[in-house]
Amino acid sequence: MSSVLFDRLTEQLQRLPGIGRKTAMRLAFSIVDNRELARELSEVLQQTWQNVGECSICRNITENEICSICASNSRLNSICVVHNPADMRAVEDAGLYRGKYFVLHGFLAPLDGVGPDELGIDKLRKMIEKIEADEVILALDSTADGEATSSYISRILEKCRASVTRLARGLPPGASIEFADSLTLSQAFQGRQRV
Ligand code: ZN
Repeated sequence: MSSVLFDRLTEQLQRLPGIGRKTAMRLAFSIVDNRELARELSEVLQQTWQNVGECSICRNITENEICSICASNSRLNSICVVHNPADMRAVEDAGLYRGKYFVLHGFLAPLDGVGPDELGIDKLRKMIEKIEADEVILALDSTADGEATSSYISRILEKCRASVTRLARGLPPGASIEFADSLTLSQAFQGRQRV
């Protein structure tokens, strides 16, 4: 293989989660082979990095200053705290929650430099005040990192106006919110408990 651009494309694809060298090369070949796909991809990628950012209230991804969920006035005054936008989508698709969200974009990991600032804890506090939230639901993975983050946030919010709850053990240990089926998610939501 003697194309510098092809090698560069492969290297960049390999930076994506779950993509090894072989898969990256297969994807790169598909892109090179399909000019229409390559054009569409390059256009949408450019528009994405130029326009998609975080909602200034809840840190959901959006092309606007405020996301459509924060802008909606038919949502309840509760905040469901999730790990990432994929988890938010899973809860939303299950159709059992009608409140707002807050996206952490990570779990607490002090050794890797992920602290309260990176998780936007101050923004979460501000959001609780701004929307006068009556409940904060911690909907985080039941993994060690998820549990540690839930405990940390519940401690931080001990004195806030909202009651803080977390999902019940409807989720098996080690389960990921993103991949949970809607029945499991539904049971976990219904059985949530005050922390
Ligand atoms: Zn928002």
